[in-house]
Amino acid sequence: MNATHRVVRPSWTCAVDELPWPCTEAQRSLRTNDPAMLRQTMANLMAIAQQELDDTDPTTLYRRFLAWTLEPDQRCAICGSRRHAVIPGVPPRLIPCDGLRTALAGRDLPR
Ligand SMILES: [Zn+2]
Ligand SMILES: [Zn+2]
Repeated sequence: MNATHRVVRPSWTCAVDELPWPCTEAQRSLRTNDPAMLRQTMANLMAIAQQELDDTDPTTLYRRFLAWTLEPDQRCAICGSRRHAVIPGVPPRLIPCDGLRTALAGRDLPR
């Protein structure tokens, strides 16, 4: 039986290699899921991780949990960046988008 690269909480490390979860192997197996569902799952997990790892920067968390789940041609609806996208269910403060922060500050966030 293959070892499973599952998450260990509340440290959010991999049970096999002790790297920050999701490690490369965990990402590889997670990628077999439907991309939209995977993004939603990872968004939910990121929100939990953010509460349990309260010293982790949101930009770092976003890269770790969500950046790799985006479609290759997916762009941010606010600023057009390919490095992030606004994902339903992800609190705006967890999305590393300067355009989104500006829009929130000006309260003209498109809905
Ligand atoms: Zn692993
Ligand atoms: Zn953006």
